[in-house]
Order: sequence, then structure tokens, then C-alpha cells
Amino acid sequence: MRAIRRFTVRPLLPPALAPIGELAANLRWSWHPETQDVFAAVDPDLWAASGRDPVRLLGEVPAGRWDELAADEGFVRRLGEVRADLESYLTAPRWYQRASERQPDVAWPRQIAYFSPEFGITAVLPQYSGGLGILAGDHLKAASDLGVPILGVGLLYRHGYFKQSLSREGWQQETYPVLDPDGLPISLLHEPDPSTGSGGTGKRATISIAMPDGPDLLARIWVASVGRVPLLMLDTDVEGNPDHYVDITDRLYGGNSEHRLRQELLLGIGGVRAIRTYCRITGAPEPEVFHTNEGHAGFLGIERIRELTVAEDGPRLDLETAIEVGRASTVFTTHTPVPAGIDRFPRTMVEQYFADAGPTPGVPVERILALGAEDYEGGDPGVFNMAVMGFRLAQRANGVSQLHGHVSRGMFNGLWPAFDEAEVPIGSITNGVHAPTWVAREVLAVAASYGADPESDDTEGFWAAVDKVPAGELWGTKRMLRSRLVDEARRRLARSWEKRGSARAELGWIDSALDPDVLTIGFARRAASYKRLTLMMRDPERLKRLLLHPERPVQLVIAGKAHPADDGGKKLIQDIVRLSDDPEIRHRIVFLPNYDIAMAQPLYPGCDVWLNNPLRPYEACGTSGMKAALNGGLNLSVLDGWWDEWFDGDNGWAIPTADGVDDVDHRDDLEAAALYDLIEHEVAPRFYDLDHDGIPVRWVEMLRHTWKSLGPKVLATRMVSDYVRQLYAPAATNARALNSDYAGARELAQWKARVRAGWSGVRVEHVETHGVGDEPLVGSPMTVRSYVALGELSPDDVEVQLVSGRVNAEDVLVDPVTTVLQPTESYDGGRHRFDAEVGLARSGPFGYTVRVVPSNPLLVAPAELGVVTVA
Ligand SMILES: *Cc1c(COP(=O)(O)O)cnc(C)c1O
Repeated sequence: MRAIRRFTVRPLLPPALAPIGELAANLRWSWHPETQDVFAAVDPDLWAASGRDPVRLLGEVPAGRWDELAADEGFVRRLGEVRADLESYLTAPRWYQRASERQPDVAWPRQIAYFSPEFGITAVLPQYSGGLGILAGDHLKAASDLGVPILGVGLLYRHGYFKQSLSREGWQQETYPVLDPDGLPISLLHEPDPSTGSGGTGKRATISIAMPDGPDLLARIWVASVGRVPLLMLDTDVEGNPDHYVDITDRLYGGNSEHRLRQELLLGIGGVRAIRTYCRITGAPEPEVFHTNEGHAGFLGIERIRELTVAEDGPRLDLETAIEVGRASTVFTTHTPVPAGIDRFPRTMVEQYFADAGPTPGVPVERILALGAEDYEGGDPGVFNMAVMGFRLAQRANGVSQLHGHVSRGMFNGLWPAFDEAEVPIGSITNGVHAPTWVAREVLAVAASYGADPESDDTEGFWAAVDKVPAGELWGTKRMLRSRLVDEARRRLARSWEKRGSARAELGWIDSALDPDVLTIGFARRAASYKRLTLMMRDPERLKRLLLHPERPVQLVIAGKAHPADDGGKKLIQDIVRLSDDPEIRHRIVFLPNYDIAMAQPLYPGCDVWLNNPLRPYEACGTSGMKAALNGGLNLSVLDGWWDEWFDGDNGWAIPTADGVDDVDHRDDLEAAALYDLIEHEVAPRFYDLDHDGIPVRWVEMLRHTWKSLGPKVLATRMVSDYVRQLYAPAATNARALNSDYAGARELAQWKARVRAGWSGVRVEHVETHGVGDEPLVGSPMTVRSYVALGELSPDDVEVQLVSGRVNAEDVLVDPVTTVLQPTESYDGGRHRFDAEVGLARSGPFGYTVRVVPSNPLLVAPAELGVVTVA
């Protein structure tokens, strides 16, 4: 019989143990081993059986055990200590507070809102599918560690993402277990009690959104506590919603495009409303900066425009002014150079949802459609593009590695057609990973026992401590971690084979699958085609020889999910699984189903080498290799994403790529052969080159170098502090300048309108140079004088620039330098003279041009208005 309803009954703890409930209620436990130790001490077997899930553990411990623990002084004392540590973590000043005291002139935002369609925080809150969600989770955790005031905003999916298992034939099977929110580490946001006014005890807080085809959509608001950071999660499973509304938050990345559009309306528009509700109820500061992690949350910009244009209690702004206010305070991060990864909707569908009053009355639907229009060369007029809207509604935008920034500037150059690729206003901040979540505690403990201080802001100092650790101790730790992975892999393999229909008696071979002393290569990622899951089996015979090498064998641990609708990806998984089913090699190559955070945590530390072979340049950043590196894994990777930036020749290996070879098959052949060569001639010989103590000295040297060179860079705390300094604080500066009565925003909007309208009158009429004779010499000064017609505009509205440098055979300027020309004289009819003097800094072919761009202190980049006039 099936139950018609389910709920989770929370335990009644004796007062002495109340702190354990508080520990379970804050997800900081998920990256704090000492807190996990307390849960394990409650009941080690139940802790393991619960999947290390504190809420489940607390629900399943028999009442008698609580009485025992309450009487156990040692336990109660430890519990008190860990609870006190959490209290101090949540309240003591951290980096952000220290830095803002040191630099009072920086506009440190009082609050930042961070929107993402998925958040990967812990395996027990499965609201993520892969890299994007894990990154969002690491962003919040690192913000918490740094004391950065961030509010996360996402959805609560009733089925989360699917769980993967395999059929007998190795075909991916998906299941979607129902998540009972009452059994998750989250709590529902409540209104204040109307009689007492005290917070959080009244009725459930809800937000609503007008829909075109029925009643308003309602959603309730869950709050997860991620250390110091609240994460708001919207959920449409609310009484009063028709069934098809309830289904909006059914699962992550499922359903057709209308389903996705509804999810994104909820995330963007509902997310802003949830923030307003949360701040009203709790008194938390309102965000000064809004960050959208990928395009999915882009409708937040439309909702903020609506707020500003119809505000009942504040000044009402005209549309263009409201857009300026919204843009100044918005940051957009693009995450993929794969065109299919960009979120697009049929234009008519967006029109249908925003027509008439719609969810954002006051914002004309035509204007919304224009914001997402692909009105550039090669664009599709029938499409509404969320990334395009993201760029138009955010004054600051970035990619997630230097290479990805470069690729994105090329990909979106069409939005700024008058500018060269290098000037497209998309920067980059390279992703990072949250060390306390991803680094094995034993690795941190070894470093700490040789003087590394995990609490220090000095991360270089921390990782430098590995130099003091004796090679034997480092190597011993690494072997222990490899051995733990082998045990974990066997357990998972046995479970998988049982699901595939094998009897226990057939599975004896699993006890000797993998070997704790064999060079272990890890490869885990989504089975997206550009990631090339099966490149390693391009030449199965050669792979077999590597695996079975008599002296220098290699073993492979592989994992990855394919999107449920991606049969191509599932076929790749099946190919790998079939290969790993081969009795001749199945002890050296295993596929572990259901790649998630719980599997990833022992996987990275157990690997000696982390393999990554995407089709360059489609891996925007990649973070799994960073997690491996922090655990003493060496990267063996195509120079893509972060590896292109930080590979230094000694911290791992670069797989040579056949860039430019258009025949995909041939390219795969070339790159696979290069991969085999590297493993055979470089990686394995070094790993097995042991000294008389059995230690691979040259390998350990590489580990030390990896920790020291990459350790400080790949951290999510480095990433978040980069966001704070390069994007959040500058955005807050502009937002404050515009917001203080909105006069600045009105002026900016009017200025933009005036400059756009007057731009047709801007012309560079004449340029002369003086001082360079017939044979210019390096170092000689050159005076440039240009006569520019500005029509209605004044010299203050523009910047006249000399763009100069080396030229190639086609007279194209390569890596040019920009020098600003100063206004020196004005003439009748809107004509002006601008001068500058430059030194000819280099010999060889030299060229220059003069151009005029709009100039205003509130612009971030000269390309922002999209207009430029060149001589
Ligand atoms: C880190 C991680 C990812 C993302 O890894 P990429 O290298 O970016 O592909 C995906 N899934 C899980 C479970 C992870 O831990």
C-alpha cells in the first residue's frame, strides 16, 4: 500500500542535547569534520546508514540513546565545544569585516544577492546537476568563510536531479526519489505573529506571480543556512496552486521549454520578491548588488525595473532611468561557450507570459522582448536569448577563466558590433573550489601538523607548509587515501552489480578490483559530448596494454551522468561500461554509477592523476581538476579552461591538442594518441620510479609543487574575494552614485539618450602628426592633433583616443595601446581640436588611428553604448 501523504517527525531532544539540533540545522557541518564527528558519535552505524545525513540520523536514533548521551559528560562537553565553535564562526569578524575596516573608502556592499538555478552544497540536499551548481554552493560557502554578506536565491526541486544506476546492458537508468522538505536541512520562512509581532511564528510567507493562463502562481520560501549565508529556495508545492503550477518545481532541468520558462520566471521574479519578503521579516539589509549565475535568473532584472517604475513608497522612475539603476547594480556571469548550453526561448512564448499586465506590469512587453532579441548578424529573430538579456541588464559581466573570457568576447561580439573583440566588455574571474568541502581532512591535518594555519588569510603560507612535511609522510597519506577510494569503489561496484541483476556469489572478483598500490587515474564529469568521455578508449588495445602493463600498470576510476534526454551521452556511458565489464581488465577499469558530491569527496583524494580531455575550448573552466590538485592529484589535461591559465610545465601535464583539425575523428585520434604517449612515457615511469624507501621522489616533488603553485589560486575564497574587489564593490559604488535620490540615474539615462541621438554628428575630420620625419627612430616623440566634429555633443561627453601600436601585413593593429587626446581648442559649428604626444616605444611596423567613444564616469567600458566613430 502506498501512503497518500508523508511527513517527517522531528525528534524531541533532552535539553542538554538541544545544541545537536542547532548543529544539524546549519549546513556548516557539511564542511566541518569536527561537527561530523559529533554526529558519528551519536551512533556510528546509523550515521553511516543515513548517508551521513544529520536530519535523518536525528530522526532515527532511538529515544533511549538520547538519554544515554545526555548522561555522558564527555559527549555533552564536546557537543558544547562544537556548538560554541559554530557560534563564533557565525558571529566573529572575518576577512570581509577586517578588510572593510582597513579600507573604509571602498564601497563594501551591505548585501549581495546571488541567484542560481542550482546549488550543490551537500549530497543530502541534492539540488544540483553538476559543475554550475557545485560552483554556486562553493561560492556561498566561501562567502560564508570570508564573512561576505551574501543571500543565495534558488528553487527547491521536489525530486532534485535524478539518481543514476545501470541496466544489465550498461544503459543509464534514472530514478527521481521524492524529497520530503521536512526531512531536509531547511526551514520554512514564516511571517511575524500578527498578535505579538515577533518574528517567524505567523503564517507561512509566500510570494505570488501573475500568470497568463490562470490564477496567480504561489510559492513558499525555504531557508537553508549555509554557515553565515542564508539560501532562499522557492517551492510551488503550495495549497491553492493548481497541479500544473505545483509541478513547476518538480525537478531540475526536466520538461519542455515552457516548463523551463516558468521555472525561470519563478527564480528571477519570484526570487526578488522572496528577498524582499525575507528582508522585511528578518531585518536583513536589502541587497545592493545582484549577481546572476548564468542566464537562467535573468528575469530578476525585469522585476527590479518594475519595482522602480511602479514603487508605491519611493520615487517612481521612468523606464530608462530604472534600467540604469538596475544595470549599475547587476553582475552577470556566463558559464558556457557551447551554443547549445545557452538558454533560449521562442520569442512568442515570452511575449505570451509578459503581455498585458503580466507578472511585471509597467514594463512594456516590447521592451522586454528587445532585451532578449538576437538582433545581430547570425541571430535568430524568433528567439529570446537569456544570455543576451543578461548582458544587456548587467553593467558588469564575466566569463569563468581567462580563456573563457576571451572565447565569450568572440561569441558575443555581435552585441557590440562596432568594437573589436578585445574591447567587448566581458571580463573574467577564474572559478575556484571550497577547500574545506573538497580536501580530505588528512591532507589538511598533515599540513597543519607542520605549522600551516587554516584560519589565516595567508593561503600561500598555508600551502608552503607542505615543504616541511617529509616525503614518506606525504606519500603515506596519499596511499591511505588511495586505499580508501579502492574500498569505496568496491562497495559501489558491488551495489551496482547487484542492481544489474548479479548474484552475490558471482561477484567475488570485486574483492580484488582495483589495487591500492597502482597508479590511479580519475575521470568524472557529465557525459556532455564536448567532454569526450570515451576518448581514452579510442584505441582499446593500446588502453588495455597500459592497464595491464607488467611493471607499470594503470587503473581508471570513471563516473558521470548523462542528461536524461541525451541518448548520445548514455551511449558513451554504455561504451565505457561495456569495456569495463571485460573480465580481462575489469580489475583495472571501473565505472561507478551516480556521480554526486558523496562520491566525489573520496574520489578526488584517492586519485594520483586527474584526467580531463574536453574538446578545446568548450570547457569554460572546469573545477574537478582543482579539487584533485588540492588533494595531491596531478592534472593530465587538455589546455582548456583553468588549466590553460595555470599549467606551468611542472605541476602536471598538458595533453597536446590538434586545434584547427576540422575532421573530428582525426582530431580525436591525434589527441588520444598523445594522451597514451604521455601516460606511457611520462606519467607511469615517474610514478613507479621509487627510491630505496619505496617513495617516488620525483613524483612527490611534483605534488609539493602542485600544492604550492596551485593551492592558493584554485580556492573559492580567492574567487569570491576577486568578485568582491573587481565586481561587487565597483557595482556598489556606481549603484550608490545612482541611488541616492536617483538624480544620478536620471542624468545618466538622459545623457545616454542624448549621446545616442547626437552620435550621428560625430566625425573625425582630420588628423595630423608632427615630430616624426621621414625616418622615425625609436623613442622620438610624436605629436598628434585631431580635428573632431561633435555636433550637439560637447568635449565632456566623449573621449578622443589615439589607438596605436604594431600593425600586421593587413594594417590591422595588434595589441594596440590607447592614449587619450586632450581638448585644446573649440571652434564654431561644434568642431574641436584634441592633442596628445606619444613616444614611439618600439621599432618595426607601427600604425595608429584616432577614434571617438562616449565618456562618462559611470560607464564601465567605452563599448557600453555600442557607439564609436573611427577616423
Ligand atoms: C566538481 C564537480 C563537478 C564539476 O566538475 P567539472 O570539472 O567542472 O566537470 C561535477 N559534479 C560533481 C559531483 C563535482 O564534485
